[in-house]
Amino acid sequence: METIIKKIDKMNIDQKTIQEAGEILKKGGLVAFPTETVYGLGANALDEEAARKTYAAKGRPSDNPLIVHICEVDALNRIAVNIPEEVGRLAEKFWPGPLTLILEKSDEVPYGTTGGLDTVAVRMPSDSIARELIRAAGGYVSAPSANTSGRPSPTAAEHVREDLDGKIEMILDGGSVDIGLESTILDMTVTPPMILRPGAITADMMEPVVGHVSIDETLLGRETDKAPKAPGMKYRHYAPKAKLMIVEGNVKEEVLAIRQLCYAAVREGKRVGVIATNETYSYYTNGVVKNIGTRENEKTIARNLYAVLREFDDEEVDEIYSESFALQGIGNAIMNRLEKAAGHLRISAASVVKQQKYRRIIFVSMTDTCRGPMAAEMLRREDLHQEYVIDSRGMVVLFPEPVNQKAEAVMKSAQMTMASHTAVALSEAEMEGDILLLTMDEEQKIKLTEQYGDNGNIYTLKEFTGEETDIPNPYGKPLNVYGECLETLSKLIHKLTEKLNSFTEGGA
Ligand code: AMP
Ligand code: MG
Repeated sequence: METIIKKIDKMNIDQKTIQEAGEILKKGGLVAFPTETVYGLGANALDEEAARKTYAAKGRPSDNPLIVHICEVDALNRIAVNIPEEVGRLAEKFWPGPLTLILEKSDEVPYGTTGGLDTVAVRMPSDSIARELIRAAGGYVSAPSANTSGRPSPTAAEHVREDLDGKIEMILDGGSVDIGLESTILDMTVTPPMILRPGAITADMMEPVVGHVSIDETLLGRETDKAPKAPGMKYRHYAPKAKLMIVEGNVKEEVLAIRQLCYAAVREGKRVGVIATNETYSYYTNGVVKNIGTRENEKTIARNLYAVLREFDDEEVDEIYSESFALQGIGNAIMNRLEKAAGHLRISAASVVKQQKYRRIIFVSMTDTCRGPMAAEMLRREDLHQEYVIDSRGMVVLFPEPVNQKAEAVMKSAQMTMASHTAVALSEAEMEGDILLLTMDEEQKIKLTEQYGDNGNIYTLKEFTGEETDIPNPYGKPLNVYGECLETLSKLIHKLTEKLNSFTEGGA
């Protein structure tokens, strides 16, 4: 079948298009349309055969019921019975909007729509295109998310096209959606009402209206043997092709842990992705890094989550590491979807971070123009099992002097260069706990500890590598002495590499 794709402007809705789409639905066809949460795959909710087509197009298991979308509150009376009085208050406060209510179904609703259940899920969306379409279709439109079952829900018409082109009659392209995560589902057939799926409407927002609201315990992240109450929540939804892992801790630990994990994965020849935020993305140096939104406004994260997961499918990455988000407001819904996408794979950031003792290595010499920068450049070329920021610093640096010319000449003849280096003075800030300071000789180490105190991270290069050789200062000597210095340093740098890499094997 050829899928008609029609652009439609929320601000100036073309009635002809709405009527055309409404007719398709009335005749039992399928039309995808925007809602404020995600794109829905519409069908006539009172037509059993239309429900069957919906499951077929999505490849969705038929025990996973559909949500019936209405455009006025009175429409409830035809499809639901024994409606609790709180429903009126909830509808008044949150409809139209991203809240789905589970009610006892009437005989008018076919079991095809409810996945064989005696209850029906109902929602009144706020998107104006959605509401006009529902009206044009006769008032009852079942609409699961318009994606292939198991893929991230669509937040733009292009996502719908990717999944359903050729399988449905029409796609209404109303641009990107507002919220980006599916509606909150609240079961009104139990007391107290129970949240079956977290969304933009949170328990905190509903409690003033209906009193205490409980939460399906299978949503709380604890391992339980129980099946979730919303049948759809038991499937591994929103699954990206790559293995997705959520790294949990405070933001600083998460960044450090993800950097470590990415470095290790890239060394193993894997392609990695990172789900980062506006506040953190510039800290990542490896992998395909996506900025999902700002931590200052988690709505931006909700809006981008599914699009980012889809983008990663096109990037052909093997693994994705995601930062985690605070469990407050819409954060609950974000983490719920992320955890489902990750198949609940979680990594403790703190446990990763503590596997790496040093993150930065500074070679300290007197003037930072010869032995220090040579050592730094050599270490950068080693195959290090962990990621280190490698620098050199001087104890007496009066101006940003370039490196010693003879030192550069011997480095060049060994296919290395320090041409971009200029001397930098060591500062007190560089005495932090995860920085290893390696001096060229004993005298420098003593001076350093006298000046800054001994924080346990200051060693001579000889001492740290357990070698006998000191590094003679070649200053003012002929070129061949610089060559010998390079030889000596080279041996020590190999030893240093072995020592640093041994930390990854036995733990630091
Ligand atoms: P979707 O429309 O793709 O967002 O999925 C609809 C969600 O609503 C699924 O998780 C369903 O399991 C859930 N749902 C629909 N009807 C019911 C119902 N009668 N009882 C419980 N959950 C329902
Ligand atoms: Mg869905």
